[in-house]
Amino acid sequence: MSKELLLVGAGFSGAVIGRELAEAGHKVTVVDARSHIAGNCHTERDAETGVMVHVYGPHIFHTDDQEVWEYVNRFTTFKPYVNRVKTTSKGQVFSLPINLHTINQFFDKTMRPDEAREFIEAQADTSIEDPQTFEEQALRFVGRDLYEAFFKGYTQKQWGCHPSKLPASILKRLPVRFNYNDNYFFHRFQGMPEEGYTKLVEGILDHPNISLHLNTRFEREQVDEYDHVFYSGPLDGFFDNDLGRLGYRTLDFERFTYKGDYQGCAVMNYGEESVPYTRITEHKHFSPWEEHEGSVCYREYSRACEPEDVPYYPIRLVDEKALLAKYVEKARQLDKVTFVGRLGTYRYLDMDVTIREALDTARGFLDRVENSEPV
Ligand code: FAD
Repeated sequence: MSKELLLVGAGFSGAVIGRELAEAGHKVTVVDARSHIAGNCHTERDAETGVMVHVYGPHIFHTDDQEVWEYVNRFTTFKPYVNRVKTTSKGQVFSLPINLHTINQFFDKTMRPDEAREFIEAQADTSIEDPQTFEEQALRFVGRDLYEAFFKGYTQKQWGCHPSKLPASILKRLPVRFNYNDNYFFHRFQGMPEEGYTKLVEGILDHPNISLHLNTRFEREQVDEYDHVFYSGPLDGFFDNDLGRLGYRTLDFERFTYKGDYQGCAVMNYGEESVPYTRITEHKHFSPWEEHEGSVCYREYSRACEPEDVPYYPIRLVDEKALLAKYVEKARQLDKVTFVGRLGTYRYLDMDVTIREALDTARGFLDRVENSEPV
Protein backbone atom coordinates (compact mmCIF):
# COMPACT_ATOMS: atom_id res chain seq x y z
CA MET A 1 0.00 0.00 0.00
CA SER A 2 1.21 3.47 -0.87
CA LYS A 3 2.60 5.48 2.08
CA GLU A 4 2.61 9.22 2.75
CA LEU A 5 6.23 10.18 3.36
CA LEU A 6 7.92 13.43 4.35
CA LEU A 7 11.50 14.22 3.40
CA VAL A 8 12.99 17.12 5.34
CA GLY A 9 15.77 18.71 3.26
CA ALA A 10 16.20 18.84 -0.52
CA GLY A 11 19.94 18.11 -0.50
CA PHE A 12 21.32 14.83 -1.86
CA SER A 13 20.01 12.90 1.16
CA GLY A 14 16.40 14.05 0.85
CA ALA A 15 16.35 14.01 -2.96
CA VAL A 16 17.80 10.50 -3.40
CA ILE A 17 15.68 8.87 -0.68
CA GLY A 18 12.62 10.72 -2.01
CA ARG A 19 13.28 9.55 -5.56
CA GLU A 20 13.70 5.88 -4.59
CA LEU A 21 10.48 5.93 -2.55
CA ALA A 22 8.58 7.80 -5.27
CA GLU A 23 9.69 5.27 -7.88
CA ALA A 24 8.34 2.52 -5.62
CA GLY A 25 4.92 4.18 -5.78
CA HIS A 26 4.83 6.10 -2.49
CA LYS A 27 3.62 9.69 -2.15
CA VAL A 28 6.57 11.88 -1.26
CA THR A 29 6.62 15.44 0.07
CA VAL A 30 9.99 17.19 0.17
CA VAL A 31 10.36 20.40 2.20
CA ASP A 32 13.36 22.67 2.50
CA ALA A 33 13.70 25.80 4.59
CA ARG A 34 15.84 27.43 1.91
CA SER A 35 14.70 29.01 -1.34
CA HIS A 36 16.65 26.48 -3.42
CA ILE A 37 17.26 22.73 -3.71
CA ALA A 38 20.60 20.82 -3.53
CA GLY A 39 21.45 21.82 0.06
CA ASN A 40 25.06 22.76 0.56
CA CYS A 41 25.97 21.52 -2.92
CA HIS A 42 23.86 24.28 -4.49
CA THR A 43 25.32 25.92 -7.60
CA GLU A 44 24.04 28.99 -9.43
CA ARG A 45 25.23 31.42 -12.09
CA ASP A 46 26.91 34.53 -10.72
CA ALA A 47 24.72 37.45 -11.83
CA GLU A 48 27.65 39.67 -12.84
CA THR A 49 30.04 37.25 -14.57
CA GLY A 50 27.75 34.39 -15.63
CA VAL A 51 30.17 31.90 -14.02
CA MET A 52 28.67 28.81 -12.32
CA VAL A 53 29.38 29.30 -8.62
CA HIS A 54 29.53 26.71 -5.82
CA VAL A 55 27.60 28.84 -3.36
CA TYR A 56 28.53 26.96 -0.16
CA GLY A 57 32.13 26.21 -1.09
CA PRO A 58 33.92 24.11 -3.72
CA HIS A 59 32.43 20.68 -4.48
CA ILE A 60 34.19 18.03 -6.58
CA PHE A 61 32.43 14.75 -7.24
CA HIS A 62 34.70 11.73 -6.72
CA THR A 63 33.89 8.13 -5.91
CA ASP A 64 34.90 4.49 -6.14
CA ASP A 65 31.28 3.43 -5.93
CA GLN A 66 30.25 2.39 -9.43
CA GLU A 67 26.53 2.31 -8.64
CA VAL A 68 26.62 5.84 -7.24
CA TRP A 69 28.57 7.06 -10.26
CA GLU A 70 26.02 5.49 -12.63
CA TYR A 71 23.21 6.91 -10.49
CA VAL A 72 24.35 10.54 -10.78
CA ASN A 73 25.09 10.09 -14.48
CA ARG A 74 21.43 9.10 -15.02
CA PHE A 75 20.34 12.63 -14.20
CA THR A 76 22.94 14.87 -15.80
CA THR A 77 26.06 14.93 -17.93
CA PHE A 78 29.35 14.86 -16.04
CA LYS A 79 32.42 16.48 -17.56
CA PRO A 80 35.88 15.11 -16.76
CA TYR A 81 37.43 17.13 -13.95
CA VAL A 82 40.59 16.44 -11.94
CA ASN A 83 40.98 18.33 -8.68
CA ARG A 84 44.44 19.91 -8.54
CA VAL A 85 45.01 22.12 -5.52
CA LYS A 86 47.78 24.65 -4.96
CA THR A 87 48.94 26.33 -1.79
CA THR A 88 50.73 29.60 -1.18
CA SER A 89 53.30 29.40 1.61
CA LYS A 90 56.54 31.23 2.41
CA GLY A 91 56.21 33.40 -0.70
CA GLN A 92 55.93 30.49 -3.14
CA VAL A 93 53.20 28.43 -4.77
CA PHE A 94 53.36 24.69 -4.13
CA SER A 95 51.43 21.69 -5.35
CA LEU A 96 49.14 19.74 -2.99
CA PRO A 97 48.80 17.10 -1.68
CA ILE A 98 52.51 17.13 -0.84
CA ASN A 99 54.14 15.22 -3.69
CA LEU A 100 57.60 14.85 -5.18
CA HIS A 101 57.31 18.25 -6.88
CA THR A 102 56.37 19.91 -3.58
CA ILE A 103 59.24 18.23 -1.72
CA ASN A 104 61.86 19.03 -4.36
CA GLN A 105 60.70 22.65 -4.64
CA PHE A 106 60.42 23.16 -0.87
CA PHE A 107 63.87 21.74 -0.09
CA ASP A 108 65.42 23.03 -3.33
CA LYS A 109 66.44 19.57 -4.51
CA THR A 110 66.04 17.21 -7.48
CA MET A 111 65.46 13.94 -5.63
CA ARG A 112 64.15 10.74 -7.17
CA PRO A 113 61.24 8.97 -5.39
CA ASP A 114 63.35 6.63 -3.23
CA GLU A 115 65.75 9.44 -2.30
CA ALA A 116 62.84 11.66 -1.31
CA ARG A 117 61.30 8.90 0.81
CA GLU A 118 64.56 8.45 2.67
CA PHE A 119 64.94 12.21 3.04
CA ILE A 120 61.43 12.64 4.52
CA GLU A 121 61.97 9.70 6.85
CA ALA A 122 65.02 11.52 8.15
CA GLN A 123 62.91 14.66 8.72
CA ALA A 124 60.23 12.76 10.66
CA ASP A 125 60.31 13.00 14.44
CA THR A 126 60.78 9.33 15.31
CA SER A 127 60.95 10.11 19.03
CA ILE A 128 57.12 10.30 18.89
CA GLU A 129 56.23 6.62 19.18
CA ASP A 130 52.47 6.79 19.59
CA PRO A 131 51.13 10.08 18.19
CA GLN A 132 48.05 11.30 20.08
CA THR A 133 47.44 14.71 18.53
CA PHE A 134 47.27 16.09 14.99
CA GLU A 135 50.53 17.93 15.63
CA GLU A 136 52.36 14.81 16.84
CA GLN A 137 51.02 12.81 13.93
CA ALA A 138 52.21 15.40 11.39
CA LEU A 139 55.63 15.73 13.06
CA ARG A 140 55.92 11.94 13.10
CA PHE A 141 55.04 11.68 9.40
CA VAL A 142 56.74 14.66 7.76
CA GLY A 143 58.86 16.54 10.31
CA ARG A 144 58.67 20.14 11.48
CA ASP A 145 59.46 22.07 8.27
CA LEU A 146 56.69 20.56 6.14
CA TYR A 147 54.30 20.52 9.10
CA GLU A 148 54.76 24.24 9.72
CA ALA A 149 54.53 25.21 6.04
CA PHE A 150 51.56 23.07 5.00
CA PHE A 151 49.57 21.82 7.99
CA LYS A 152 49.93 23.99 11.07
CA GLY A 153 48.47 27.33 10.01
CA TYR A 154 45.80 25.85 7.76
CA THR A 155 44.57 23.48 10.46
CA GLN A 156 44.62 26.22 13.09
CA LYS A 157 42.49 28.47 10.88
CA GLN A 158 40.16 25.69 9.76
CA TRP A 159 39.39 24.34 13.24
CA GLY A 160 40.01 27.44 15.34
CA CYS A 161 42.33 25.63 17.71
CA HIS A 162 45.97 24.60 17.86
CA PRO A 163 46.79 21.28 16.12
CA SER A 164 48.09 19.99 19.48
CA LYS A 165 44.44 20.10 20.67
CA LEU A 166 43.08 18.05 17.77
CA PRO A 167 43.07 14.24 17.63
CA ALA A 168 45.69 12.39 15.55
CA SER A 169 42.88 10.64 13.68
CA ILE A 170 42.27 13.76 11.53
CA LEU A 171 45.54 13.02 9.74
CA LYS A 172 45.09 9.32 9.19
CA ARG A 173 47.50 8.32 6.45
CA LEU A 174 50.90 9.54 5.36
CA PRO A 175 49.88 12.77 3.61
CA VAL A 176 52.79 12.62 1.14
CA ARG A 177 53.24 11.10 -2.33
CA PHE A 178 56.66 10.15 -3.63
CA ASN A 179 55.73 10.73 -7.27
CA TYR A 180 54.43 13.65 -9.33
CA ASN A 181 50.76 12.66 -9.10
CA ASP A 182 48.94 15.82 -8.00
CA ASN A 183 45.41 14.48 -8.45
CA TYR A 184 43.90 15.34 -5.06
CA PHE A 185 41.69 12.24 -5.00
CA PHE A 186 42.52 8.56 -5.50
CA HIS A 187 39.03 7.56 -6.63
CA ARG A 188 38.30 5.85 -9.96
CA PHE A 189 35.53 8.27 -10.94
CA GLN A 190 35.82 12.04 -10.74
CA GLY A 191 33.95 14.80 -12.51
CA MET A 192 31.86 17.93 -12.49
CA PRO A 193 28.19 18.11 -13.48
CA GLU A 194 28.11 20.15 -16.69
CA GLU A 195 25.20 22.32 -15.59
CA GLY A 196 25.97 22.31 -11.86
CA TYR A 197 24.80 20.28 -8.87
CA THR A 198 21.45 22.02 -8.55
CA LYS A 199 20.45 20.86 -12.04
CA LEU A 200 21.48 17.32 -11.05
CA VAL A 201 19.33 17.40 -7.91
CA GLU A 202 16.48 18.93 -9.95
CA GLY A 203 16.62 15.84 -12.18
CA ILE A 204 16.51 13.53 -9.15
CA LEU A 205 13.48 15.33 -7.72
CA ASP A 206 11.64 15.37 -11.05
CA HIS A 207 9.10 12.59 -10.47
CA PRO A 208 5.29 12.73 -10.52
CA ASN A 209 5.08 11.24 -7.00
CA ILE A 210 7.26 13.99 -5.50
CA SER A 211 5.90 17.35 -4.42
CA LEU A 212 8.52 19.92 -3.47
CA HIS A 213 7.98 22.86 -1.10
CA LEU A 214 10.78 25.40 -0.75
CA ASN A 215 10.93 28.14 1.91
CA THR A 216 9.16 25.63 4.16
CA ARG A 217 10.54 24.87 7.58
CA PHE A 218 9.69 21.51 9.10
CA GLU A 219 7.84 21.54 12.41
CA ARG A 220 7.98 18.49 14.68
CA GLU A 221 4.20 18.27 14.94
CA GLN A 222 4.16 17.32 11.23
CA VAL A 223 5.45 13.85 12.12
CA ASP A 224 1.88 12.82 13.00
CA GLU A 225 0.64 13.71 9.51
CA TYR A 226 2.87 11.18 7.73
CA ASP A 227 3.53 7.45 7.78
CA HIS A 228 7.25 8.15 8.09
CA VAL A 229 9.64 11.12 8.12
CA PHE A 230 13.23 11.16 6.80
CA TYR A 231 14.95 14.12 8.43
CA SER A 232 18.20 15.54 6.99
CA GLY A 233 18.23 18.70 9.15
CA PRO A 234 20.44 19.14 12.24
CA LEU A 235 19.95 16.34 14.79
CA ASP A 236 20.03 18.70 17.79
CA GLY A 237 17.66 21.13 16.02
CA PHE A 238 15.01 18.40 15.75
CA PHE A 239 14.88 18.33 19.55
CA ASP A 240 14.97 22.15 19.87
CA ASN A 241 18.57 21.83 21.15
CA ASP A 242 17.16 20.83 24.51
CA LEU A 243 20.38 19.07 25.58
CA GLY A 244 22.62 21.81 24.17
CA ARG A 245 24.07 22.58 20.75
CA LEU A 246 26.34 20.27 18.76
CA GLY A 247 29.37 22.31 17.70
CA TYR A 248 30.01 23.18 14.07
CA ARG A 249 32.45 25.33 12.16
CA THR A 250 30.86 27.74 9.72
CA LEU A 251 32.35 29.53 6.72
CA ASP A 252 32.16 33.13 5.54
CA PHE A 253 32.76 33.84 1.86
CA GLU A 254 34.08 37.20 0.66
CA ARG A 255 33.22 37.59 -3.00
CA PHE A 256 35.32 39.57 -5.42
CA THR A 257 35.58 39.77 -9.18
CA TYR A 258 38.55 40.03 -11.51
CA LYS A 259 38.89 40.77 -15.19
CA GLY A 260 40.63 37.72 -16.63
CA ASP A 261 42.16 34.84 -14.68
CA TYR A 262 42.91 35.66 -11.03
CA GLN A 263 44.91 32.64 -9.84
CA GLY A 264 45.05 30.09 -12.68
CA CYS A 265 43.41 27.28 -10.69
CA ALA A 266 40.14 26.56 -8.90
CA VAL A 267 41.45 26.29 -5.34
CA MET A 268 44.46 28.04 -3.80
CA ASN A 269 45.08 27.29 -0.11
CA TYR A 270 46.82 29.71 2.23
CA GLY A 271 48.71 27.74 4.88
CA GLU A 272 50.15 30.63 6.86
CA GLU A 273 48.48 31.99 9.97
CA SER A 274 49.29 35.57 8.95
CA VAL A 275 46.71 35.26 6.12
CA PRO A 276 43.25 35.26 7.74
CA TYR A 277 41.46 33.18 5.09
CA THR A 278 42.04 29.45 4.45
CA ARG A 279 41.68 29.46 0.68
CA ILE A 280 40.47 31.27 -2.42
CA THR A 281 38.16 29.54 -4.87
CA GLU A 282 38.06 30.84 -8.45
CA HIS A 283 34.86 29.29 -9.70
CA LYS A 284 35.32 29.48 -13.45
CA HIS A 285 38.05 26.84 -13.26
CA PHE A 286 35.39 24.30 -12.21
CA SER A 287 33.88 24.67 -15.72
CA PRO A 288 36.92 24.82 -18.03
CA TRP A 289 34.65 23.97 -20.98
CA GLU A 290 32.94 27.38 -20.65
CA GLU A 291 34.43 30.70 -21.66
CA HIS A 292 34.13 33.72 -19.39
CA GLU A 293 36.08 36.94 -19.62
CA GLY A 294 35.30 37.98 -16.08
CA SER A 295 36.03 35.90 -13.04
CA VAL A 296 34.44 35.56 -9.61
CA CYS A 297 36.37 34.37 -6.57
CA TYR A 298 35.49 33.62 -2.95
CA ARG A 299 37.88 34.14 -0.06
CA GLU A 300 36.94 31.55 2.56
CA TYR A 301 37.11 32.20 6.30
CA SER A 302 36.36 29.57 8.94
CA ARG A 303 34.94 30.36 12.39
CA ALA A 304 32.78 28.96 15.19
CA CYS A 305 29.16 28.48 14.15
CA GLU A 306 26.56 30.63 15.94
CA PRO A 307 22.88 29.56 16.08
CA GLU A 308 21.92 31.79 13.11
CA ASP A 309 24.82 30.58 10.88
CA VAL A 310 24.93 27.79 8.29
CA PRO A 311 26.51 24.72 9.94
CA TYR A 312 29.34 23.31 7.78
CA TYR A 313 31.83 21.02 9.52
CA PRO A 314 30.83 18.99 12.61
CA ILE A 315 33.56 19.41 15.22
CA ARG A 316 33.26 15.97 16.84
CA LEU A 317 35.73 16.41 19.67
CA VAL A 318 35.27 14.69 23.04
CA ASP A 319 32.50 17.01 24.35
CA GLU A 320 30.54 16.90 21.08
CA LYS A 321 30.74 13.12 20.90
CA ALA A 322 29.33 12.81 24.42
CA LEU A 323 26.44 15.13 23.53
CA LEU A 324 25.93 13.34 20.24
CA ALA A 325 25.50 10.00 22.06
CA LYS A 326 22.68 11.53 24.11
CA TYR A 327 20.88 12.86 21.02
CA VAL A 328 21.33 9.54 19.23
CA GLU A 329 19.63 7.85 22.18
CA LYS A 330 16.68 10.26 21.92
CA ALA A 331 16.51 9.73 18.16
CA ARG A 332 16.41 5.93 18.58
CA GLN A 333 13.21 6.25 20.56
CA LEU A 334 11.34 7.77 17.60
CA ASP A 335 10.22 4.93 15.39
CA LYS A 336 8.53 7.14 12.78
CA VAL A 337 11.59 9.29 12.07
CA THR A 338 14.85 8.33 10.35
CA PHE A 339 17.77 10.74 10.76
CA VAL A 340 19.90 10.93 7.62
CA GLY A 341 22.67 12.88 5.92
CA ARG A 342 25.45 15.06 7.20
CA LEU A 343 23.33 17.12 9.62
CA GLY A 344 20.94 14.38 10.70
CA THR A 345 23.83 12.10 11.70
CA TYR A 346 26.34 14.86 12.59
CA ARG A 347 29.14 13.56 10.38
CA TYR A 348 31.22 14.99 7.55
CA LEU A 349 30.02 13.03 4.50
CA ASP A 350 31.23 13.37 0.94
CA MET A 351 28.51 13.51 -1.70
CA ASP A 352 29.08 9.96 -2.91
CA VAL A 353 28.83 8.57 0.63
CA THR A 354 25.69 10.65 1.19
CA ILE A 355 24.12 9.15 -1.94
CA ARG A 356 25.23 5.61 -1.05
CA GLU A 357 23.70 5.92 2.43
CA ALA A 358 20.53 7.45 0.98
CA LEU A 359 20.09 4.56 -1.47
CA ASP A 360 20.65 2.02 1.32
CA THR A 361 18.24 3.82 3.67
CA ALA A 362 15.50 3.90 1.03
CA ARG A 363 16.00 0.24 0.17
CA GLY A 364 15.92 -0.80 3.83
CA PHE A 365 12.65 1.09 4.23
CA LEU A 366 11.12 -0.46 1.10
CA ASP A 367 12.09 -3.95 2.33
CA ARG A 368 10.30 -3.30 5.61
CA VAL A 369 7.20 -2.12 3.77
CA GLU A 370 7.28 -5.16 1.50
CA ASN A 371 7.60 -7.52 4.46
CA SER A 372 4.74 -5.69 6.23
CA GLU A 373 7.06 -4.74 9.09
CA PRO A 374 6.32 -1.57 11.08
CA VAL A 375 7.80 1.60 9.58
P1 FAD B 1 22.69 19.24 3.01
O1 FAD B 1 23.27 19.44 1.67
O2 FAD B 1 23.16 20.10 4.10
O3 FAD B 1 21.10 19.36 2.89
C1 FAD B 1 20.28 19.48 4.04
C2 FAD B 1 19.11 20.38 3.69
O4 FAD B 1 18.16 20.33 4.76
C3 FAD B 1 19.50 21.84 3.51
O5 FAD B 1 19.11 22.29 2.24
C4 FAD B 1 18.72 22.56 4.62
O6 FAD B 1 18.24 23.82 4.21
C5 FAD B 1 17.58 21.60 4.88
N1 FAD B 1 17.02 21.72 6.24
C6 FAD B 1 17.71 21.64 7.41
N2 FAD B 1 16.86 21.78 8.45
C7 FAD B 1 15.62 21.96 7.93
C8 FAD B 1 14.32 22.16 8.51
N3 FAD B 1 14.12 22.19 9.84
N4 FAD B 1 13.26 22.32 7.68
C9 FAD B 1 13.43 22.28 6.33
N5 FAD B 1 14.64 22.09 5.73
C10 FAD B 1 15.72 21.92 6.52
N6 FAD B 1 31.55 16.45 -0.81
C11 FAD B 1 32.18 15.91 -1.89
O7 FAD B 1 31.88 14.78 -2.28
N7 FAD B 1 33.14 16.63 -2.57
C12 FAD B 1 33.51 17.89 -2.20
O8 FAD B 1 34.39 18.49 -2.82
C13 FAD B 1 32.87 18.46 -1.07
N8 FAD B 1 33.21 19.70 -0.66
C14 FAD B 1 32.62 20.22 0.45
C15 FAD B 1 32.98 21.49 0.85
C16 FAD B 1 32.43 22.06 1.98
C17 FAD B 1 32.84 23.43 2.40
C18 FAD B 1 31.51 21.29 2.75
C19 FAD B 1 30.96 21.85 4.03
C20 FAD B 1 31.09 20.05 2.33
C21 FAD B 1 31.64 19.49 1.17
N9 FAD B 1 31.23 18.24 0.70
C22 FAD B 1 31.87 17.69 -0.39
C23 FAD B 1 30.15 17.48 1.37
C24 FAD B 1 28.73 17.77 0.79
O9 FAD B 1 28.42 19.13 0.99
C25 FAD B 1 27.72 16.85 1.50
O10 FAD B 1 28.02 15.52 1.17
C26 FAD B 1 26.26 17.10 1.15
O11 FAD B 1 25.90 18.44 1.27
C27 FAD B 1 25.36 16.28 2.07
O12 FAD B 1 24.02 16.37 1.65
P2 FAD B 1 22.82 16.34 2.70
O13 FAD B 1 21.58 16.26 1.89
O14 FAD B 1 23.06 15.30 3.72
O15 FAD B 1 22.92 17.74 3.49
